[in-house]
Amino acid sequence: MEENSIECVSMSSAERSYEAEVNYPQSHHNQLSKSRRKVAAPLISSANSVVELLECPVCANSMYPPIHQCHNGHTLCSTCKTKVHNRCPTCRQELGEIRCLALEKVAESLELPCKYSSLGCTEISPYYSKLKHEAICNFRPFSCPYAGYECSVVGDIPFLVSHLRDDHKVDMHIGSTFNHRYVKANPLEVDNATWMLTVFHCYGHYFCLHFEAFQLGMAPVYMAFLRFMGDETEARKFSYSLEVGGYGRKLIWEGTPRSIRDSHRKVRDINDGLIIQRRLALFFSGGDRKELKLRITGRIWKEQNLESGACISTLYS
Ligand SMILES: [Zn+2]
Ligand SMILES: [Zn+2]
Ligand SMILES: [Zn+2]
Ligand SMILES: [Zn+2]
Repeated sequence: MEENSIECVSMSSAERSYEAEVNYPQSHHNQLSKSRRKVAAPLISSANSVVELLECPVCANSMYPPIHQCHNGHTLCSTCKTKVHNRCPTCRQELGEIRCLALEKVAESLELPCKYSSLGCTEISPYYSKLKHEAICNFRPFSCPYAGYECSVVGDIPFLVSHLRDDHKVDMHIGSTFNHRYVKANPLEVDNATWMLTVFHCYGHYFCLHFEAFQLGMAPVYMAFLRFMGDETEARKFSYSLEVGGYGRKLIWEGTPRSIRDSHRKVRDINDGLIIQRRLALFFSGGDRKELKLRITGRIWKEQNLESGACISTLYS
């Protein structure tokens, strides 16, 4: 099925076709900066000492009711209490079943700024709902979307874009259409591998195109999908399509990119993307089917908002 009539092609990127080497040199791993973005401590300094009191001396997490204490007044969170065999970790005395109601009450009266206030969040929450807010805070840093191996780097989108480019040597491309070739010798050797990440910049946002191989049940498959570098609500404003084929056959996927808040593994596990059976992929690759040579074309567009005049004129011509 040809869709030429409604195609909205960005000339700069449509005319560019490039080949991507499938394996990344492993040495990049060592160059990775492990630095995490620092987040500021609560700004209300008068509350700081109380907040420190509310830190469990054993695990350093914030304590929530029931907060326990020993006969000598050393406090302990309820998780740690179950692990210390009724001995106070601080003074080694028997722990008993004493609750520290005073501290629980003080905590209840506290109002604290979100721990991402330095990143722009202005939310002030009661102590006991602070964690709940921080878990869904829109200003919380994103995790690195690179999926080749575990990467613990977190930060905002501009930071992660330069991190992907500089530390993971990820290919960066400008434009909303792409034509990407994946080449791999000995495709039968790789069953569970994450191979490629390419970043596209268009509509003022960044998108991650993932391509990888894994076992789906008994069947070896390749999968390509797009993730949006930003929050879920923004991601829903976009759609994308992916196409792969050859020799008169074509597979087309159309979907909404997932936010990188959804882990790469999660998107893969629910199969939210273009899935190509390996046998079909090798058929598309042609030749003696010993080498994988897939050409994936794709397009990203913004929903319900035809901003580009070029798009509208082709639609109605
Ligand atoms: Zn604890
Ligand atoms: Zn004690
Ligand atoms: Zn917040
Ligand atoms: Zn990373």
